Amino acid sequence: MSSGLVRMICPNLSCRKVLSVPQSARGKSVRCRHCGMRIQVPAMPSMSPGSEISEPPQQAATETGKNG
Ligand SMILES: [Zn+2]
Repeated sequence: MSSGLVRMICPNLSCRKVLSVPQSARGKSVRCRHCGMRIQVPAMPSMSPGSEISEPPQQAATETGKNG
């Protein structure tokens, strides 16, 4: 499974272009071809099922209505 592109948005607020970089660019820094800003390509995909610990942020325990 190869030939995949990593899509990310340019962090430059005045650019915000969608960049498609090859998977081989993971962990490296690429240069936006639109604004020329240097962008760090994440080594790992943001969404990794069963890999990343996803804990729901507990805002506040104000859930009153359960009568146990
Ligand atoms: Zn850019």
